[in-house]
Amino acid sequence: MADIQPYMRDGYTKEFHTTVKSIADGKFVTLNETYFYPTSGGQPHDTGVLKTADGREVKVIFVGLFGEQPSHQVEPEGVLKVGDEVTGTIDWDRRYTHMRMHTAAHLVSKVFEDKKGAVVTGNQLGLDKSRIDYELDDYNPDELRAFEDVVNEFIEQSLDVTSHVVSREEAEELLDRLSTLKMGFPEHITQVRLVQIGDIDMQACGGTHLANTKEAGKVKFLKFDNKGKNNRRVYFTVE
Ligand SMILES: [Zn+2]
Repeated sequence: MADIQPYMRDGYTKEFHTTVKSIADGKFVTLNETYFYPTSGGQPHDTGVLKTADGREVKVIFVGLFGEQPSHQVEPEGVLKVGDEVTGTIDWDRRYTHMRMHTAAHLVSKVFEDKKGAVVTGNQLGLDKSRIDYELDDYNPDELRAFEDVVNEFIEQSLDVTSHVVSREEAEELLDRLSTLKMGFPEHITQVRLVQIGDIDMQACGGTHLANTKEAGKVKFLKFDNKGKNNRRVYFTVE
């Protein structure tokens, strides 16, 4: 997880003002603060534009984390200068779809953990479909398919999704008590962002989420893959 970034405090900001902090190789731009989400934790980066008051404009085509700092790959090169005041606008359709997928992924993971004791090992969100990887001894696709209804019941309960930042020690204690899978925080992490869905789920997560489960719409399981007990996979989408 990155250090606490503006997009973690507010996932609904689509446009913001900031200053260009550095530029490397003419095209890797860091900003004094950013709401652009960098590829991390299975959630793909945002895209959008950066625009100066005097009408210069670049596209943001990739955002990655370099160290703890989100870096924006822009095109064309050579348009922005360090110190430029810019307006950042995020491609909202793309981001919002990732927020719906991401929030749904928390719910799918939760249901698989609760109902089957599955251990979630990874996830990859996409615009058309997302997948969750998990370990599970006893594998029965028909049984798993029925959990789609359980996920959708949670969505229909209109549960608020909230986040707060706590110390690493407090996070470890809380997650232990909830027997939630602890991913093992990297050494340097001193603060952890916890994402809570109603009173049913809490996870340490740095991604962007909906404010309420209702916005996810309807989750549909697309496919189950069985690659051995340590590598099962479910593909889903949101409608
Ligand atoms: Zn999350």
